[in-house]
Amino acid sequence: MSEPFLKIRGIRKEYGPVVAVHDVNLEVRRGEFLTFLGPSGSGKSTTLYILAGFENPTKGDITLDGQTLLATPSHKRNIGMVFQRYTLFPHLTVGENIAFPLKVRRKSKAEVDAKVKEMLRLVRLEGFEDRKPSQMSGGQQQRVALARALSYDPPVLLMDEPLSALDKKLREEIQHEIRRIHQQTEVTILYVTHDQEEALRLSDRIAVFSKGIIDQIGTGPELYANPRTRFVAEFIGDSDFISCDLLSSDNGQATISLGGKTVFERIPVHGKAPAAGKAALMLRPERIRLGRGNGASDGFSATVSDITFLGNNVHVATQTAAGEALSVRLPFGHEAISGLNRGDRVHLEFDPDAAHVFC
Ligand code: ADP
Ligand code: MG
Repeated sequence: MSEPFLKIRGIRKEYGPVVAVHDVNLEVRRGEFLTFLGPSGSGKSTTLYILAGFENPTKGDITLDGQTLLATPSHKRNIGMVFQRYTLFPHLTVGENIAFPLKVRRKSKAEVDAKVKEMLRLVRLEGFEDRKPSQMSGGQQQRVALARALSYDPPVLLMDEPLSALDKKLREEIQHEIRRIHQQTEVTILYVTHDQEEALRLSDRIAVFSKGIIDQIGTGPELYANPRTRFVAEFIGDSDFISCDLLSSDNGQATISLGGKTVFERIPVHGKAPAAGKAALMLRPERIRLGRGNGASDGFSATVSDITFLGNNVHVATQTAAGEALSVRLPFGHEAISGLNRGDRVHLEFDPDAAHVFC
């Protein structure tokens, strides 16, 4: 196989006693949209700044097309960058802002003019060329920032929470634009966000950051269906954890029991599985079946504690026999919900491949 386009190897960054990034390893394909997803302080921005050349790593290497990037100063790396806050030059017009990186690169006037036009078309801001940034909305300013970052055809574009200052509706609109621009330009994008929905909407793959390392990398569906850590399970999709008894585990599959009663077999198990003992069973609200009464023997019972209508689905909060909270989500109009009331006893079932045991 050929060398990956962008390769991050063993990157570590210390600020005095603070370890911002522990050990990040990553390979990115040409044209890929890869997102760093994780909570605040998990090392996403620091990793991006090291890529951009604003910071030097304490350890590790980054290669682009097989060549180390670390020897090249930031302004010569040819990497585009869009930040959270609008970073346009306030005294320049939109057109001048987009032209700026091209003028720095000493492109001819004809070339600059043509490129500015092309970029304005790309971000759908034709006719705004002579405005000042202060005369544009936040969303429009971020589109100009995107146009400016892409004007010199960088092979890699870095974006650090570029939409977090915008409201939800505008954010979704620009997510859509970013997707289209990625498909149209085929630029390789590394994108930082703490918003799982944004990551799922935009990315080819997601790297889940936790405490300065990447916990897991995969497509959205891979991370959702097969989280390797409890942290990833909690970060992608909705999940609840209830305690269970681990009876045995073999080859990544566990046999467990709930409340000392029903036994469940062949559930994927993660972590250093001990021979037996207490463990956590992860269930997703949309993967649980709910029936009325006591039901058959292959599930477990719970009591309804609340029912909330959420538009296209209904959230049923339940309490297990052990007193733990477990959510169930059903489509609006589902027969199991009609006439269901708080305090009702229900029967819950799940498929083994929709559950995970974490030790
Ligand atoms: P994220 O972008 O995931 O929110 P950052 O990469 O900004 O996280 O920060 C990771 C950790 O490193 C945090 O604990 C942060 O406080 C620390 N950190 C970042 N930059 C500096 C710095 N210049 N000096 C000291 N600590 C820093
Ligand atoms: Mg950050």
